[in-house]
Amino acid sequence: MSEQKDSRTEIGEIGEFGLIDRLSSKFSTKNSSTLKGIGDDAAVIGNGDDLRLYSTDMLLEGVHFDLSYMPLQHLGYKAVAVNVSDIAAMNGIPKQITISLALSNRFSVEAVEELYKGIHFACEDFSVDLVGGDTAASPSGLVISVGVIGEVTKDKVVYRKNAEENDIICVTGDLGGAFMGLQVLEREKAVFKANPEMQPELEKYDYIVKRQLKPTARMDVIHELRDLSLVPTAMIDISDGLASELFHIAKQSDVGITIYEDKLPISKMTYDMAVEFNMDPMTCALNGGEDYELLFTISQKDFEKIKNHADIAAIGFVNKKANGLNMITKNDNTVAIQAQGWKHF
Ligand code: ADP
Ligand code: MG
Repeated sequence: MSEQKDSRTEIGEIGEFGLIDRLSSKFSTKNSSTLKGIGDDAAVIGNGDDLRLYSTDMLLEGVHFDLSYMPLQHLGYKAVAVNVSDIAAMNGIPKQITISLALSNRFSVEAVEELYKGIHFACEDFSVDLVGGDTAASPSGLVISVGVIGEVTKDKVVYRKNAEENDIICVTGDLGGAFMGLQVLEREKAVFKANPEMQPELEKYDYIVKRQLKPTARMDVIHELRDLSLVPTAMIDISDGLASELFHIAKQSDVGITIYEDKLPISKMTYDMAVEFNMDPMTCALNGGEDYELLFTISQKDFEKIKNHADIAAIGFVNKKANGLNMITKNDNTVAIQAQGWKHF
């Protein structure tokens, strides 16, 4: 290693986003077709009215998934869904994917076929074509990296950066379920390790376990927004937790955020499990990752269009930057929102 001892910075000191900022600051854009490079859910490419979107996400065994409870078929589905979710977050439609694999000899042909069954299901569900990829050997463990290409027109593309004061903040679905599902899976794994005779009891946690093992991308909502002729002012998908995503929107749009605790959508099962685990359900909803729901802002004039939608909750409003990011609690106290997000470093 050529780095000098006294100039060594631990990645943990600056974090994942700090590292990306530091590395990308050395690059400038040379092509006029690069409309948006690093810093949103997907890159935006094109010169005319029809734009292309590109995004990639990598899943590593032991970091993002544990094959002792993640069936390979679900893993294949999830790897595609989390990428499609980034295209949804730009208000785009996914069209093609590539799959790159690193495999150790622990995996049989049949095992890889299982993985591809899930990839195939996802390709059907999201109407995308598998158009390529790469396959390599891995010294240990499985790595699956997916690239996705999507399409959107110039008048419909939605970035993280255009939220405006007084816009309404919306989220789809419910939050914290995938995180609580993971807690259940980890608990059952520990029980099984201690006593292999014990069969995991997962049926009664079906909903939250599914939120963790087989998340979906909210393309249904993207199509509905189109039907309603509603283009959000800003959007992001919730992969690292609501709080972390609110920070991204606030930072890039140069605004403040106010949300209401009693408006956060939490399923009963998520709530009950959090209590059982001695966790605060609100913390799970704010900081639990991997729900892959959409967080978006709309102008007030568009509120009529979604106010009775069963699966979209209005959770707050866009505020002046000087007000920062706050949550009004059920007791009417104002507390600052803390972003934890997922930190793998
Ligand atoms: P998401 O959670 O929406 O998938 P990420 O947080 O992974 O997005 O990435 C944020 C932005 O940083 C994206 O624009 C992504 O393309 C970019 N990015 C991530 N890692 C790197 C890297 N190693 N080099 C260059 N750009 C990166
Ligand atoms: Mg994203």
